[in-house]
Amino acid sequence: MGRLEGKSVIITGAGSGIGRAAALMFTREGARLIAVDRTDGVNETVAEIRKAGGAAEAVTADAGSEKDVIAFIDKALSAYGKLDVIWANAGIGGGLIPLAEQTVEHWQEVLRVNLIGPFLAVKYSIPHMVKHGSGAIVCTASVAGLKANASGHPYAASKAGVISLVQTTAYSLSGTGVRINAVCPGLIETGMTKPIFDNAKERGTEGKIGQLNPLKRAGQPHELAAMGLFLASDEASYVNGQAFPVDGGLTASMPYAGRPI
Ligand code: NAD
Repeated sequence: MGRLEGKSVIITGAGSGIGRAAALMFTREGARLIAVDRTDGVNETVAEIRKAGGAAEAVTADAGSEKDVIAFIDKALSAYGKLDVIWANAGIGGGLIPLAEQTVEHWQEVLRVNLIGPFLAVKYSIPHMVKHGSGAIVCTASVAGLKANASGHPYAASKAGVISLVQTTAYSLSGTGVRINAVCPGLIETGMTKPIFDNAKERGTEGKIGQLNPLKRAGQPHELAAMGLFLASDEASYVNGQAFPVDGGLTASMPYAGRPI
């Protein structure tokens, strides 16, 4: 029996990286999935799931658009009759633009996808979960939402906002039986970080990647998916309102360059 046996699950950003790894892992654990992405990658994800005997439907949608969020939640309800889990994972990077050159339009787009998207996922999934007296929501934040220097300003602000959304929503859901948590990835090898890895390969500096964390390597998408699976499952029945770094230990440290003792 899988850890998500029979559960109706939505994962956004399921066309690549962490979302795709989660889609594959969750369906192996018995989830019936609505896989959402704005790119065609989501069709490949669903084809792979079906080939392995899993249950999934692909939806091409913008996770930052209110009408699209309403539509993919409706799709889960019509396909599976309920909604048990939603992982608001879709996100975009913001680049490393000097503060003085950042535009309002750039900030608005990063916040729209990375923060308003999770807000909409939360807003429109909650009524169905509350009705059933159970449900689990996972949001992808970032170590950039916890500490400085991991990214540009709008991205960091959007991810700090996601952590705050999770904390405040846990209290809005008091007494309902619905849980909400965030994962905070460190450096993970995905579509988003491909330029970092490609650049390092080009310069022959791959050995430097991930050296700031005590595991001395970058993370892989399935290592995030495993944390999301735990949080989405009933095994995490008393885990609520938290933001969990999955970063090889990166954020456990003060930014000193001192030697380990
Ligand atoms: P990725 O680029 O491989 O996957 C992100 C997916 O989200 C893509 O398939 C993309 O098409 C989709 N997406 C983006 N905007 C969308 C939208 N508006 N609507 C629907 N789909 C959309 O990158 P990833 O690393 O797997 O990213 C997943 C999440 O992890 C993001 O929220 C990202 O901010 C977060 N994150 C990643 C890292 C890392 O090092 N990779 C670190 C911290 C946080």
